[in-house]
Amino acid sequence: MGALTPLVSDITATGLSLVADVTAEELGLVETDAMLRGPVSVSLDLAQADEMIAVTGVLEGTVVRQCVRCLKEYDDALAFSVHAAFAREGKDNKVVARQPKPGESRRGRAASTKTEPDVEAEDEGDDRYFYQGDHIELAPMLREHIILASPMQPLCREKCAGLCVRCGKDLNEGPCQCPAEAPSTTIRVIRTTKN
Ligand SMILES: [Zn+2]
Ligand SMILES: [Zn+2]
Repeated sequence: MGALTPLVSDITATGLSLVADVTAEELGLVETDAMLRGPVSVSLDLAQADEMIAVTGVLEGTVVRQCVRCLKEYDDALAFSVHAAFAREGKDNKVVARQPKPGESRRGRAASTKTEPDVEAEDEGDDRYFYQGDHIELAPMLREHIILASPMQPLCREKCAGLCVRCGKDLNEGPCQCPAEAPSTTIRVIRTTKN
């Protein structure tokens, strides 16, 4: 039980404010997800709204990324707003979330080949999560947000010159000794003679 598992009963009509510095470990974040430089600070407001718990706030921290061009590691500021809604997982809740419910009786033998449409939950246009019991788990939601905030092609700087493809020198530090466009790289036209 920590800052990331608030009790639902603590979320009163006036809401609950949650401010904490959390580590990668507390977020369940592993290095292949994102490498955090120290803990991240989260500032969240939790409020009861329409049978749901609305979570809004910000997350800030620093992530170590590797540039796709020069392969150097660099610190990247992480800052984004969080918008999520948690619904109680119950019998009358037809929306199937990420975890399949083991006791689901709807799935008959005949329908076993039919796959549930995955888009169902995404149609909400809202980051929706579920909670069970007396507390909500914020860590998986925050972890997901951090992963989604990672760029596909991280660059240490917008105009990173990258590495020389031949000698491997970091061209941000200056030009290498390789001849500029050596003749060997020009396309050789191979003539085929018909016999
Ligand atoms: Zn770079
Ligand atoms: Zn070179």
